[in-house]
Amino acid sequence: LDAIFHHAPSLMFIKSTDLRYQMVNPKFLELLGKTEEEVLGQDDFVVFSPEDAKDIRRTDQMVTQKRMPLQVELSFNTKLGRRHFLSNKFPLFNEDGEVYGVGGITTDITDKVAAEAEAKITNMVFEAAAEAELVMSDSGKVITNSSFTRITGYPNDHAVSFALSLLHDHPEIEIELRKSGRWQGESTRRRANGENLPIWVSISLVEDINNQKSYIAVFSDISNLKEAEQKLEKLAHYDNLTGLPNRTLFYDRFDSALARSARNNTQTGLLFVDIDRFKLINDSYGHDIGDQILIDAANRITHHIRPGDTVCRLGGDEFTVILADLDRPGRVQNIARRIHSELRKPYKIGNKEIISSASIGIAIYPDDGNSVHLLLKHADTAMYHIKERGRNDIMFFDKTLNAEAEARIALEESLRSAIKSDELFLVFQPRFHITAQRILSVEALIRWRHPEKGMIPPSDFIPLAEESGMVVELGQMVLRKACERARIWNRLSETPVPVSVNLSTRQLHDPDLLSDIQTTLNTTGLPPSLLELEITETMVIEDMDTVIEKLNAIREMGVNLSVDDFGSGYSSLIYLKRLPVSTVKIDRSFVEDVPGDADDENLIQAIISMSHTLNLNVVAEGVETLEQLEFLRNNDCDEIQGYLLAKPDSAEKVEELLLQVTSTSSMDSPRIHKL
Ligand code: C2E
Ligand code: CA
Ligand code: CA
Repeated sequence: LDAIFHHAPSLMFIKSTDLRYQMVNPKFLELLGKTEEEVLGQDDFVVFSPEDAKDIRRTDQMVTQKRMPLQVELSFNTKLGRRHFLSNKFPLFNEDGEVYGVGGITTDITDKVAAEAEAKITNMVFEAAAEAELVMSDSGKVITNSSFTRITGYPNDHAVSFALSLLHDHPEIEIELRKSGRWQGESTRRRANGENLPIWVSISLVEDINNQKSYIAVFSDISNLKEAEQKLEKLAHYDNLTGLPNRTLFYDRFDSALARSARNNTQTGLLFVDIDRFKLINDSYGHDIGDQILIDAANRITHHIRPGDTVCRLGGDEFTVILADLDRPGRVQNIARRIHSELRKPYKIGNKEIISSASIGIAIYPDDGNSVHLLLKHADTAMYHIKERGRNDIMFFDKTLNAEAEARIALEESLRSAIKSDELFLVFQPRFHITAQRILSVEALIRWRHPEKGMIPPSDFIPLAEESGMVVELGQMVLRKACERARIWNRLSETPVPVSVNLSTRQLHDPDLLSDIQTTLNTTGLPPSLLELEITETMVIEDMDTVIEKLNAIREMGVNLSVDDFGSGYSSLIYLKRLPVSTVKIDRSFVEDVPGDADDENLIQAIISMSHTLNLNVVAEGVETLEQLEFLRNNDCDEIQGYLLAKPDSAEKVEELLLQVTSTSSMDSPRIHKL
């Protein structure tokens, strides 16, 4: 290097960080016609004309600021007149990696032919001076600098095998060197201690004046850069909580899965997994537990897929699973089933056991669509459909679902306005003493008379209202109307008849429920003992402790509680024991098949006797025949409700019935006469 410095035909210099000359070679002084004393310690505005100095200064600053080598063409005045130069500038690093100056090799390229040869030498020296690590001549001689050992951990004599392994792993290097004499790219090597070593490599083939060929390989350790890159990549493409690919990466992966399927003539399945009632769990147990459940759910889902498949978290409690390149579509259903049953297992978090389930909508390429967007939409539609039907299932997309989805949105819209206008009203269905001689209470049931569609049953719009949250507002309205009506009836009659109102899940979990009930009782003037609220087991099971607390508070207000549809859900009598309820209503589905169906007969008998042990009043719902009534009577059921004795009817009709049945012991209702 020393020889090159003294005899090189290029100008060479070293400047400090404040861009004053520290060292220049004889050629530099000669061409500018200056002495060392005139240059060293001075900056470019002293050495060059102001215009030329400005260019030189600007490019020097780029090197110190970016800490990167720079190749620029510059022109400046010399002793030989104005000349054109190719200048290679590079930062000089000290041991700690700090820049302590700028080095430069500036070659006169005014004369192109001379420049060609010189540039090569320049290049060689430049590369060697910057972060060059390895120079290998054709004859096999290898020179490395100390950075080689610092970075790789290997002694210098490993340089050859290091270089050869690099060439071996990247056959493209040789091809490119032969073609253009230069190759740049990334590679991953290993450090002596076994760690991965990501490097940026730049190899040039140079020929010196004597036609001696050498390879100059410059490589830099880019592990810090890689780490930063990976972090960024993780942030941009992966979900922080579960570590699963996020929505962005999902689109990417799904897109390539579809492309692959198209090429291979295979199918790709998309599962849209939604954790049922997650919001409720989150709201009642807190976000930490909600997070735990999401992580657990993510693990459970991931457990069931092949390596080529992808599980993503779209956000919230929504996951997708891409089942790529299927030759057997049956696999989709199997996996969906397995994931579904896996997500029904209780989540054990701390000493809590939380029960949940999942709804999984499925769309398959190419049958259900050929774009990412369409398939996602269709899987979502199928998922939504499950939710509507009461959650906790798997379902394949089907073209008819689209129409249903549109109809559902339209229905939701009209329900919104129905709440405001007068399309919603209540009907009432009495509950009778088992002897059918007396009406013990009246249940309020909502009705919707749609201006065009006619009557829409509550089973069609309550779940919709539940899903959208409208059910809370709707429930408040039902509660108010029912209480108002009960108040009127109880002014008319001497025997008070309580009214019962169905609560929905959302309503039960609504933080304002207690105050709503209190306000309604206050404004209507209905005694709390004349109000009964019906809840189902499923509503309770999700967050037992909180719900029980709430139910106790309602009970303390003097309001009665009953369990509706008993037997259709978890049917746990142990739960019943913990609930402050006074009445159990046996689900209509069991009453339907008695007498005759031995299983249902046994079940009803068991429910009645267990309930009596717990001091609970038992009501059988949906009693349509005398035989059913007979059976229930023989088995000590307390009350009955059903079409046999009274269908749900308008307030006025029920009022007539109330007056008849409660004021006269002779009951002249024709239906009751038959008994
Ligand atoms: P539910 O609370 O179990 O109400 C009993 C349902 O069975 C009513 O249907 C009633 O008309 C019907 N039913 C009564 N006796 C018989 C019978 O002998 N045979 C047959 N086949 N059916 C009988 P409806 O009114 O269509 O209500 C369906 C469900 O909608 C209710 O089931 C309840 O869960 C819900 N619902 C109704 N009104 C409201 C409300 O105001 N708020 C809430 N949250 N839900 C409501
Ligand atoms: Ca009910
Ligand atoms: Ca019921």
